[in-house]
Amino acid sequence: MTSTAEELITEAVGENEQQPAAAFSLELSQDLRDIREWVHGFAADVVRPAAAEWDEREETPWPIIQEAAKIGLYGYEGLAQFWADESGLGLPVTNEELFWGDAGIGMSIMGTSLAVAAIFGQGTPEQMAEWIPQCFGTAEEPAVAAFCSSEPDAGSDVSAIRTTAKYDEVKDEWVINGQKAWATNGGIAKVHVVIASVDRELGARGHAAFIIPPGTKGCEQGAKVKKHGLRASHTADVHLDDCRVPGSCLLGGKEKVDERLANAREGKRSQSQAAMQTFEASRPTVGAQAIGIARAAYEYALDYAKERRQFGRAIIENQAVAFSLANMKTEIDAARLLVWRAAWMGRSGHKFTNAEGSMSKLKAGEVAVWVTERAIQILGGNGYTREYPVERMHRDAKIYDIFEGTAEIQRLVISRAISGVQVK
Ligand SMILES: Cc1cc2nc3c(=O)[nH]c(=O)nc-3n(C[C@H](O)[C@H](O)[C@H](O)COP(=O)(O)OP(=O)(O)OC[C@H]3O[C@@H](n4cnc5c(N)ncnc54)[C@H](O)[C@@H]3O)c2cc1C
Repeated sequence: MTSTAEELITEAVGENEQQPAAAFSLELSQDLRDIREWVHGFAADVVRPAAAEWDEREETPWPIIQEAAKIGLYGYEGLAQFWADESGLGLPVTNEELFWGDAGIGMSIMGTSLAVAAIFGQGTPEQMAEWIPQCFGTAEEPAVAAFCSSEPDAGSDVSAIRTTAKYDEVKDEWVINGQKAWATNGGIAKVHVVIASVDRELGARGHAAFIIPPGTKGCEQGAKVKKHGLRASHTADVHLDDCRVPGSCLLGGKEKVDERLANAREGKRSQSQAAMQTFEASRPTVGAQAIGIARAAYEYALDYAKERRQFGRAIIENQAVAFSLANMKTEIDAARLLVWRAAWMGRSGHKFTNAEGSMSKLKAGEVAVWVTERAIQILGGNGYTREYPVERMHRDAKIYDIFEGTAEIQRLVISRAISGVQVK
C-alpha cells in the first residue's frame, strides 16, 4: 500500500515528537561551555602573553606545561574529561581555544596526545593503564610523549617505513633499528611510540607500534629541527640503534599482531578500513587547532581594521577591507562546521563514507593559511613585522597543510572515498 504525502509527513512529525532527543542542535552542553570558558581563560591569561617569547626561544615551554598540569588541563584526566562529552565536540572545542592562545605552545601541550591516541587505539587495556599516565608524568613533574612514524624517506608514503623490529625469542625482547624524522617531542619524550616494520614484504600491513619506555638504551634524539612556525614545539629526529624493549611493549600484544600478519600473508582483507576510521576520527581535532589560529588572526585583524585610520576614516569603512573580514569569518565558521560534523560522526559511530574527517582537516588547514595571510594584508606593514602577532600565526598555520596528512593526501583520500576509484 502506498502512503500519501500527508501520511508520510504526519508519520515523520509524529516520530520527531516521540524522540525529542534526536532533534538537531548545535547548542553545546553546559559542561562543554564551562570547559571552553576554562580553557579560554588559560589561553588568554597564560598562553597568549608568552607566545612571542617562546616562539623566539624555539624551546619547549616547560613552565607553561607545568601550569597546565597543575590545573588539570594537561594530563590524562584532563584529556579523558575532554573526550567524555558525548557530542564528540570536547576535543575540537578545547583544541580551538588553546590554539587560539598560541599554536606553538598549544602543540607543546597537545603533542603528547598523538602518542596517547596510538596507545588508546592499539594497546590492550593493561598497556593503556600502564603507559598513558606515564606519557603525561605528574602534575609536579610533567612529561611529554612522542609518536614516531615519519622517516626521511617515508612521509606521505607510510608503506616505505624502513625501521625494523625483530623478535628475540630467547629474551622475549624486540630489537628496533631505524631513524625517525620530524617527531614532535622526539628525544625529549618520556615515552616514545614507534612504528616499525616486522615484515617488510607486507608493506604497511607489516607494521606494528611499539612503546619505548623511559631511558631505554639505543633510543636517542637526533638533530633538532629549526622550523618556519610552531617553534615553541620541539621537533627532532629520533635514532633507534639496537634498541631493545620487552615483548610486552608491542602494542596490542604478540598474539593479536601475529594473527593480523598471518591474515595479511594469506591475502585476507586488511584492517585498513578500521585504520582509516581511526584517522578520520582524529583529523577533526587537528582541524580545530587550525581554526583556533585562524580565529585569533581574524579577531586581531578585525580590531585593527576598526582602529587604524587612513584617508580620514577607519580602514574597515572600505569595502575591500570589510569584505575581506566578512569572507574570513564565513570561511572560519564553515570550516568549524565541517570539523564539528566529523567529530560528531566519529563519536556517534557514523561511517566516514565520504572521508568527512579528511574534509574537515583539509578545509580547516587551508582556511587557516588563507585567513592568516589576509590578516597580514589588513595590518599592512605592521602585519609583516614581529611586533604584531599575525605573521607568527601565518607561520604556524602553514603546517596544517602538511602534517597529519598533507592537503594533497587528504584530497586523495576524499576522491577515493567519493569515487571508489584508486585515484593516484
Ligand atoms: C612540525 C612538524 C611536526 C611533525 N610531527 C610529526 C610527528 O609527531 N610524528 C610523525 O610521525 N611525523 C611528524 N611530522 C611529519 C609529517 O607528518 C610529514 O612531514 C608529512 O606526513 C608529509 O611527509 P613529507 O614531509 O615526507 O612530504 P612528502 O611525502 O615527501 O610530500 C611532498 C609533497 O608531495 C606531495 N605528495 C606526496 N605523495 C603524493 C601523492 N601520492 N599524490 C599527490 N601529492 C603527493 C605532498 O602532498 C607534498 O606536497 C611532522 C612534520 C612537521 C614539519
